[in-house]
Amino acid sequence: MRIGFGYDVHQLQTGKELWLGGIKLSHTKGALGHSDADVLIHAICDALLGAANLRDIGFHFSNTDPKYKGIDSKVLLREVCLLIRNAGYEIGNIDATLALEAPKINPHIPEMQRVLAEVMAVPVDDISIKATTNEGLGYVGTEHGVNAYAVALIERK
Ligand code: MG
Repeated sequence: MRIGFGYDVHQLQTGKELWLGGIKLSHTKGALGHSDADVLIHAICDALLGAANLRDIGFHFSNTDPKYKGIDSKVLLREVCLLIRNAGYEIGNIDATLALEAPKINPHIPEMQRVLAEVMAVPVDDISIKATTNEGLGYVGTEHGVNAYAVALIERK
């Protein structure tokens, strides 16, 4: 068994789309990034890659490569799962936390779990997503950014 940790941050801006956990949320602000800026998926990708000691998301999918401009992060997650399985591992479980002030994430968590489980080809029960505000503190608290953290367990086949 191996464990990995992932962290990501994206800036929030008015007029951008807000993609989190593979779904689009309606909100006044969205995340800025080279891809669709899905901070939760990016943290999960890094947790998985870290568990297998396969570098990080930027190593595999450069944020200057036009190929990945505006790309759906679910495509990247699917690719990461392939890398993990090709390296001889089965994916165990994911536990992730989103930190942002708004919108309320809790009502959307079951759909995020369902979407991510399908992309990763794992049972829904293996994807835990939690959300917290930053209590008004710092760049997350002032809605200038969104943070995501994830841990992943993998097992050698
Ligand atoms: Mg990112």
